[in-house]
Amino acid sequence: MSADTSAESPTSSAGDFVADAVRADAIAGTYGGRVQTRFPPEPNGYLHIGHAKAIIADFGIAEQFGGVCNLRFDDTNPDTEEAEFADSILHDIHWLGFSPANVFHASDYFCVLYTWAQVLIEQGLAYVDDQDAETVSAQRGGYGKPGIDSPYRERSVAENLDLFHRMKAGEFSDGSRVLRAKIDMQSDNMWLRDPVMYRIRTRHHFRTGDDWCIYPTYDWAHGQSDAVEGVTHSMCTLEFEDHRALYDWFLDHLPLPHEQPRQYEFARLEFTHTVTSKRRLAQLVREGRVDGWDDPRMPTLSGLRRRGYPASAIKEFCRSIGVSKTNSTHAIEELQWHVREQLNKVALRRMAVLRPIELVIDNWPLDVAGNQVVEHFDIVNNPEDPSEGTRSVPFTGRLWIEAEDFEVNPPPGYFRLSPGREVRLRGAYFVTATSAETDDAGRVVRVHVTYDPATKGGSAPDGRKVKSTMHWVSAGHAHDATVGLYRHLFATERPGETTGDPLDDIDPRSREVLVGCKVEPALAETSRGQVVQFERLGYFALDPDQPMFFHRTVGLKDEWAAQQKRL
Ligand code: ATP
Ligand code: MG
Repeated sequence: MSADTSAESPTSSAGDFVADAVRADAIAGTYGGRVQTRFPPEPNGYLHIGHAKAIIADFGIAEQFGGVCNLRFDDTNPDTEEAEFADSILHDIHWLGFSPANVFHASDYFCVLYTWAQVLIEQGLAYVDDQDAETVSAQRGGYGKPGIDSPYRERSVAENLDLFHRMKAGEFSDGSRVLRAKIDMQSDNMWLRDPVMYRIRTRHHFRTGDDWCIYPTYDWAHGQSDAVEGVTHSMCTLEFEDHRALYDWFLDHLPLPHEQPRQYEFARLEFTHTVTSKRRLAQLVREGRVDGWDDPRMPTLSGLRRRGYPASAIKEFCRSIGVSKTNSTHAIEELQWHVREQLNKVALRRMAVLRPIELVIDNWPLDVAGNQVVEHFDIVNNPEDPSEGTRSVPFTGRLWIEAEDFEVNPPPGYFRLSPGREVRLRGAYFVTATSAETDDAGRVVRVHVTYDPATKGGSAPDGRKVKSTMHWVSAGHAHDATVGLYRHLFATERPGETTGDPLDDIDPRSREVLVGCKVEPALAETSRGQVVQFERLGYFALDPDQPMFFHRTVGLKDEWAAQQKRL
C-alpha cells in the first residue's frame, strides 16, 4: 500500500492537522507508507452526533491516504457494556456510509495485555499495590502537590509476578489490589504518577464471559490495542492530550509487532441545548425522560435518523467544521442548515394540513347524480428535480386548510384568507372568503368561499394577483396522520450550567404531538423513514415503525440565521 499524498478525496477538510502529520510521515517513510486508523467506541451506549465527527475523521484520513480504518470496540469495562450497543454502533457507522475494514475488540487482546503487563513487571516497571482505590488516588497528589510513593512500590519482581498471577487467578477480592505502572510519583503530568493498569472486578463480560476477573484500564488497553493492530495514527479527543505521554511510555517499553503508533488529539464536537455524553444520554433513557435512544429529540445518530436527518447532512456539516484543536460549541441550527440543503434537493413536496378547518366552496359544481365533482391537478413533485415528475392530486368543493390560514379580523400584514379576500389554493383555483362558522367556543370550524372557474391551475387570465398561496387537502380524499413537532430537548443553551444537573433543564414542551392531521392521498405511499416536504410547513420523516406518524425533521426557514441577523 502506498501513501497517496496528491489526490485528496472530498472527505478531507483543508488544514486538517492530522492529514498534515500523515503527509509528513509519508515523506519521512515512518510507517513504510502505511496508514491505519481506528474508531474506538466503548459499547456502553448508542453513538451520538459527536461520534460522527470522530468517525468522519478516522475513516476520512484512511480514505484520503489509501489506508485502512478499523472499528475497535473498546470493551474493557464489563459493568456498562452490552452486545445491543455494539450492534447499534456498527449499524450507525454503516448508515453514515462507512465500512470498517475489520471489526476488532479490545477484549481480544486481554491475553496479550496480560503478557505485556508481565513484561513490564519483569523490567521493574510495574508493581502490585495492596492499597484501596481511595488511598491510591489520595497519594497521587495534584498540581503543585507532590505524590507519595506507595509502601508497596519497591516490591521485588518475583513477588510482583506472584501477586499478579494470583490476582488473575481470582484469589483476591474486588478492589483489594491493583497493578500499577512504576513511572514517577513526582511527575508534573498526573497521568505518569504510577497509573493503575489493572483492577480486580469479578464480573461477567459480554464477550469473554467469566474468563477474567482483572480488567485493564483505558490507558493500559488503548495504546496497546493500537499497537497490536498496527494502527499508525490514533485520533482521540482533546481531553486525552495529557494521556499521550503515558500512551508513549507504555509503548516505549514493550516488544511491539509494528512501528509505534502516535496519538493525535482533536476538539470534541459539542452543541448548544444538547448533551453529548453517553452517560447523560443513558440517564435520559433509563429515567424515561425520552422514548429511548432513538427518540427523535435525542442527539444520537439513531434519534437523528428517526427524525429524518440525512447522513449526508451530518457528513457535510462535519466536513465544514473540519478537524481542529480548538474546542467550540456549535448551534444545532448550523447542522440543520445542512439538513435543509440536502433535503431540499431530494424531498418530494406534498400537502398536509396540521391543524385542519373546513373550507367549503359554495359554488362548486355537482354532477348529474348530485355528488361533488372531483377534479385532479398535476402538481410538481420536486421543483429542484424535474425528473421526479408530477402527481395527480384530487380537488373537490370540500377541503381542509390550516386553521391559521384564516382570520375573521386580519391584523395588519396578514395576507391569507379573510372575509372578502381572494387567495390562491396551490395549483388549483383562486377562492374568495364569504363567511365563517364557529363552534360554541367561538373557534372557526368552517369557512365558506366561492371560486373563480377561470383561474384553473392557479392563475387568473386577466392577470390579477393574490398575495397568498395556501396548501389544502380534499376532505373526501384525505388520510389521517399524526405529527410530532419538536423543539430543543433542553431549554437552556448550556444544560445544567446554572442548575448543576442538565436534566433539570429539560423542556417539558420539547415535543408536541398533533393528532387528526389531514394529508393528501400520495402520502399514504410514503416509505418508512422517508423524508418529504409538507409545503409551507417543513420537512417531515415517516416513522419507521408507526404508520402515518410523521416527525418534523426541520422547518423550512433558518430561524437561527434570522435570529443572528436581528442580534
Ligand atoms: P461519551 O462521553 O459520550 O461516552 P466517549 O469519548 O467516552 O464519549 P467513546 O465511545 O469512548 O465515547 O468514543 C469513541 C470515539 O469517539 C473516541 O475516539 C472519542 O474521542 C470520540 N468522541 C466521543 N465523543 C466525541 C465528541 N463529542 N466529539 C468528537 N469525538 C468524540
Ligand atoms: Mg469513553
